[in-house]
Amino acid sequence: MRLLIVEDDPLLGEGIQAGLSQEGYAVDWVEDGEAADTALITNEYELMVLDLGLPKKSGLEVLKNLRLKENDLPVIILTARDTVEDRVAGLDSGADDYLTKPFELGELSARIRALLRRRGGRSSPVISHGNLTLDPASHTVTQDGKTVDISPREFTILQLLLENRGKVMSRSRLEEGLYAWNDEVESNTVEVHIHHLRKKLGAELIRTIRGVGYIVDKT
Ligand code: CA
Repeated sequence: MRLLIVEDDPLLGEGIQAGLSQEGYAVDWVEDGEAADTALITNEYELMVLDLGLPKKSGLEVLKNLRLKENDLPVIILTARDTVEDRVAGLDSGADDYLTKPFELGELSARIRALLRRRGGRSSPVISHGNLTLDPASHTVTQDGKTVDISPREFTILQLLLENRGKVMSRSRLEEGLYAWNDEVESNTVEVHIHHLRKKLGAELIRTIRGVGYIVDKT
């Protein structure tokens, strides 16, 4: 799951990036509105956390632009000023949720999970697929009721595949979910993680579509 954080306060930006990375997200962090535009063009994200008061270009403009292009990326806006007008303008410009500073990282992270869940068309926080369940909040996977030992990156790949059931996910799309800019991409890692997932969960779950990518079929 790759997230974009747009925040010009270095302490806050760094804190959010560190906290969410620890939860297994690949997190890119930029500090102004123009850099946000560039990041949105160059990468595919699952969600954006967007401060409204930004240098070069306001968060509101970034958001309006994104929606003009009919991009439905889930967006949580951050606002320092506790004014109703700010939040209303943000929501009217296409934000899905908002947080007023200061906030607890735990709340941001719960709102992120809720939005990703809704985006996947789920009302339940847990993803079920056959005898498998995947819980994004606790980062646990169970099969036939038993917890499966799974690494954070394997978890991310499995979550992306399950949330996109019936769609082929290319290797590069899965890689994007695993790595942020600062991380070094190791070659063959997606293949290695898929190999481990098949060993742990059974060979049939994830199908290889030769030359295209991987798919989990709808049940
Ligand atoms: Ca700001």
